[in-house]
Amino acid sequence: MDWDVIVIGAGPAGCFTAKSIALSGFKVLILEEDQEIGFPVQCAGLISPRVIELAGVDNNTVLNKLKGISVYSPQGAQFNVVGSKDLALAIDRAKFDQELATKAENGGAVLMKGVKVVGATRIEGGFRLTVAEGSKTISTKLLIGADGAKSSVSKWLGLSRDNLKAVMHAVDVQLKCADTSSISIFMGQKLAPGWFGWMIPLDEKTCRVGTGYALVKPAYSPRRYFQDLVDQFPQIFKDMKVIGHTGGIVPLGKISRIYAANAMLVGDAACQTKPISGGGIYMGLIGAILCSRTAVEALREDNLTEAKLSSYQKYWEKEMEKERVSAMKLRKSYLSFSDEDIDLVIRFLNKPKYQKLILKYGDLDYPSYLGNKLLNLVLRKESLIKATIRIF
Ligand SMILES: Cc1cc2nc3c(=O)[nH]c(=O)nc-3n(C[C@H](O)[C@H](O)[C@H](O)COP(=O)(O)OP(=O)(O)OC[C@H]3O[C@@H](n4cnc5c(N)ncnc54)[C@H](O)[C@@H]3O)c2cc1C
Repeated sequence: MDWDVIVIGAGPAGCFTAKSIALSGFKVLILEEDQEIGFPVQCAGLISPRVIELAGVDNNTVLNKLKGISVYSPQGAQFNVVGSKDLALAIDRAKFDQELATKAENGGAVLMKGVKVVGATRIEGGFRLTVAEGSKTISTKLLIGADGAKSSVSKWLGLSRDNLKAVMHAVDVQLKCADTSSISIFMGQKLAPGWFGWMIPLDEKTCRVGTGYALVKPAYSPRRYFQDLVDQFPQIFKDMKVIGHTGGIVPLGKISRIYAANAMLVGDAACQTKPISGGGIYMGLIGAILCSRTAVEALREDNLTEAKLSSYQKYWEKEMEKERVSAMKLRKSYLSFSDEDIDLVIRFLNKPKYQKLILKYGDLDYPSYLGNKLLNLVLRKESLIKATIRIF
């Protein structure tokens, strides 16, 4: 075999996985189809402070620290909380990915850019990969698919996944921002069906804005939903100047398995994302830790059988599946909320006692705990909500 491990995709999940395996002394190659790591950026770059620590990247990837959140209802209600500690960080996502790639190379992995893998064939003891350029082939004992939301590796391995996803349009804008320390979230089933709009300030005059839909058949394109968001909140967006467009999908569903004999999937390719926010960086790094742990154990024992690699799925389910499943239930239950319900809930929660609760239990990486608490509160007040609806 040419390599012990080939990782396809030099995103955060691929590079973090490759680094740990290479540091354990194995020959690791990362193949990335893009010429420049981190580009094109398809991310709002919002992470929790623990991600910087976990990834071990420099603090200079952080562009802004966010301490508060404002939530807007479709009918104009607003809910604000501001705490004393950093709830979230806005990062330079390209720089973040580049640092992780450099760390993988410093750990001993070889990174080849501008190389697209177009096929994988199972051979005795591993896989033979075909790359687009010159129909070259390379062999590996272990194949790791870190090739993102539209993973080809998962298809080559025959690992089926459901089609649940969030589809988003995002834009970098110049915009005077009155409050640079709070994220804004825009809710409404007509505005962002099954999902939400967002505005993340980077400084006094630059923001990231985006929106999309999830788990529903949309009436419009994500770009049109973005225009609707801008039109619905002229007081916020009227002087906005667009610098650049991006967007993409985040898989929210489940994949049948994240391993096969001589192969594993990690990051978006393994659906390791958060169904409430669509965040995948933290989940992908946790996936990478568990994937590389399994890979190193298996390579040391020279046992890359399906049975051996199945421990990766067990590690993942123990660590994260409870949170993911619970968050998915919350995401699905949101679909039953009408715009009127959302408006009432936001008004209902805009009280000091609930604001304190949100600050106490809110965690960007584990949102289901707070989400369930709030849902229970709201459901207990259902009679109140229904009554209020009737009065209105
Ligand atoms: C609009 C938007 C906003 C988002 N905002 C956030 C956010 O604020 N916070 C957050 O945590 N997450 C966010 N996400 C999700 C986050 O971007 C992903 O979860 C994360 O990038 C997944 O990392 P990854 O390493 O698994 O895959 P990726 O970062 O997608 O990397 C996969 C890599 O594989 C390469 N590749 C694919 N196929 C091949 C091939 N055949 N051969 C060679 N290379 C290949 C690709 O070029 C790519 O570089 C957002 C996503 C979108 C679309």
